[in-house]
Amino acid sequence: MNDEMSEMSEPPKSQPTGIDRHVHLEGSVDPDWARSQAASVPDALEAFWRGQAMPFTDFIDSFFFITDLLTSSDAVRRAVNAVVGRLPKNCGGPKGVDLWCSPQTLVVDRKLLSLNELWKGIEQGISDAREQGVSVAVILDAVNNFGIVNGHTLLDLVAGDMPPFVVGFSTGGLERVPFRQWAPVFDRARALGLRCAAHAGENGPASNIREAIEEANLNRIVHAVRAAEDPSILELLAEREIAVDVCITSNLALVPEIKRHPIKIMMDAGVRCALGTDDPGVIYTDLGNEWRRAAELLENDSYMERLFQNSVQGAWCLNH
Ligand SMILES: [Zn+2]
Repeated sequence: MNDEMSEMSEPPKSQPTGIDRHVHLEGSVDPDWARSQAASVPDALEAFWRGQAMPFTDFIDSFFFITDLLTSSDAVRRAVNAVVGRLPKNCGGPKGVDLWCSPQTLVVDRKLLSLNELWKGIEQGISDAREQGVSVAVILDAVNNFGIVNGHTLLDLVAGDMPPFVVGFSTGGLERVPFRQWAPVFDRARALGLRCAAHAGENGPASNIREAIEEANLNRIVHAVRAAEDPSILELLAEREIAVDVCITSNLALVPEIKRHPIKIMMDAGVRCALGTDDPGVIYTDLGNEWRRAAELLENDSYMERLFQNSVQGAWCLNH
């Protein structure tokens, strides 16, 4: 079915894809719903929602403020609904979401709800999405800077109760612990039947991208925007046909090293970029906006056609 979908998808010209290639469940709640749940919303979060640039520490605080609202299966379902609601209304080709989720953060570290409630909420959200023709796949997200014990804790938590919509394993957070140390955790995830990815080259140096590919055998990298500083890493990404999820609004807000987003530099080098929204419940955006920003940076339709095809071909929600 999925190969057929890829073949059927028309190049977009001015139309965006309906595939959000990277978005976090925890960073996605609808602002109006958040306001209805909390006695008061922090000023910094309201500022983010107005599109103001804010310090990274405010991003972390705001992210956890909305994460802490996910205390029931209904709240989780609404977060998935919010993600799906941010897909463009008029778009070409298949519709889908690759949804990152951190069960150990929600269930173990912050004790917001049980794993059972989390899976139930996601399943209901996925069922709602299916009714709108949207496929959703879940990628487990371990916190790199908490060390590989965090990855093992996550896999311990889910190994005995992993629904079919969970298709992948990734690291996120701060790129502090070298990927060579994470390699055995990725191997364990693969043994459980999961595909593997990592956030790299976002808040860490370009060399992290090389290490994630060469030491941890990854073929999908989230962000990778620091690759633009090193032609040899752009070449590696292109040669290995690594799927790369860039999130223009988020990258410009959170990666101080980039002033202009390097998506064109990356695509000129042959990197298979696709677009995601990352944490749109904090850094306010939607996929249509990401597509418009990409069009401004890429300037011509041949890039946009490649972006469209990359988005479809590398989407795990369509190919699992
Ligand atoms: Zn992310």
